[in-house]
Amino acid sequence: MTDTFSLDHARSLDAADPLPTLRDEFHVPRFGDGEQAYFVGNSLGLQPRGTRAQVEDVLDKWSMEAVEGHFRGHSQWMSYHELMREPLARLVGAEPAEVVAMNSLTANLHLMMVGFYRPTSERPAILVEAGSFPSDRYAVESQIRFHGFDPATDLVEVQPDEPGGTISMQAIERAIAEHGPRLALVLWPGVQYRTGQAFDLREITRLAHAQGAVCGLDLAHAVGNTELHLHDSGADFAVWCHYKYLNSGPGAVAGCFVHARHAQTDRPRFAGWWGHEAQTRFQMGPHFRPTPGAEGWQLSNPPILGLAPLRASLDLFDRVGMPALRAKSLRLTGYLESLITGHLADVLQVLTPADPASRGCQLSLRVVGGRERGRALFDDLAANGVLGDWREPDVIRISPAPLYNTHEDVFRFAQAVQSWQGRSGA
Ligand SMILES: *Cc1c(COP(=O)(O)O)cnc(C)c1O
Repeated sequence: MTDTFSLDHARSLDAADPLPTLRDEFHVPRFGDGEQAYFVGNSLGLQPRGTRAQVEDVLDKWSMEAVEGHFRGHSQWMSYHELMREPLARLVGAEPAEVVAMNSLTANLHLMMVGFYRPTSERPAILVEAGSFPSDRYAVESQIRFHGFDPATDLVEVQPDEPGGTISMQAIERAIAEHGPRLALVLWPGVQYRTGQAFDLREITRLAHAQGAVCGLDLAHAVGNTELHLHDSGADFAVWCHYKYLNSGPGAVAGCFVHARHAQTDRPRFAGWWGHEAQTRFQMGPHFRPTPGAEGWQLSNPPILGLAPLRASLDLFDRVGMPALRAKSLRLTGYLESLITGHLADVLQVLTPADPASRGCQLSLRVVGGRERGRALFDDLAANGVLGDWREPDVIRISPAPLYNTHEDVFRFAQAVQSWQGRSGA
């Protein structure tokens, strides 16, 4: 029988995989004579090799055409954001008019809440998961205060009720039912950043709507990671960033979804000229007439240099398609899980749900023995070219990104943990 805890076995899994890795399409940081095992695509995705050409295209156009670049050719800047519209819609399961790339995630969250968080004294509350990402929490708290309400009573947090710190659907359902008449907005993550738990977004939207609340989604850790069906989910809006699994570079321009049922909404919004109806924008009239759909929420003419990397990234996602990518992700993360539970259970405890439908590619791993031991392991992994990320007090997050991570990477992680365990006498 072949030893399944071996580099050879990992390589045979890569060789047999129905979706050959696109690793060669990326710049992978060097480590020694080889490359890092990079598991931090949940934080900053690797740079696609095609990115530089897209950025240089913009620089060339600017140098040669200057202001004429706005109006010339297929990639003219006037309509540059529209080049992203269809691939982005395919990626998140939306209609093209429901999505736009603009601003940053937190800015988009605020803009969406201007329209979709309309608290009244009977219905002032926002429901989120306990331990939500700090920026989301700050945004939500500040919006509650901005409207003259009090986060102490009007920010409802659903506490984890499962051993790994995850939240059951029953707990979400109970919280939405209990606070229902007071809820103005349910804001829920597609994948929770700390635990890696993925949620049934259609069901959460249904529960929120049944109580008369609006439902918004933060998909920072879900986009490019899980298969999304945003239109069918029925959510009112969603926001996400493009520097994590979308590999579009540090601080990349973010994404935003507004459901088609709100395409012609007269909800309040903070307006800017790029949200004005495209055909008449340059009549420069005094009255704002929004473009129907998500593009009507744009403020400024977009940073073209910032958008250019997104084109390169979306090309790769389009080439593979989310279903095939997700299928590969299930294989990679399943392999990671099997190595941990089969060989490393004395060192690592998986906090992320075991059900593949309830997670993306990331596994959050608690180091047995506490913080000091955890840090020692984490530092040792980094010194051996295996990069994960650290969450206080004792969690290492490992995210095999199916575009560029391989079974061999995953095995290198497991082997490095085992080797550390041997050396540390644990
Ligand atoms: C990464 C992340 C952010 C970061 O916000 P920016 O506005 O892009 O800096 C916010 N929320 C969540 C849930 C995230 O995962």
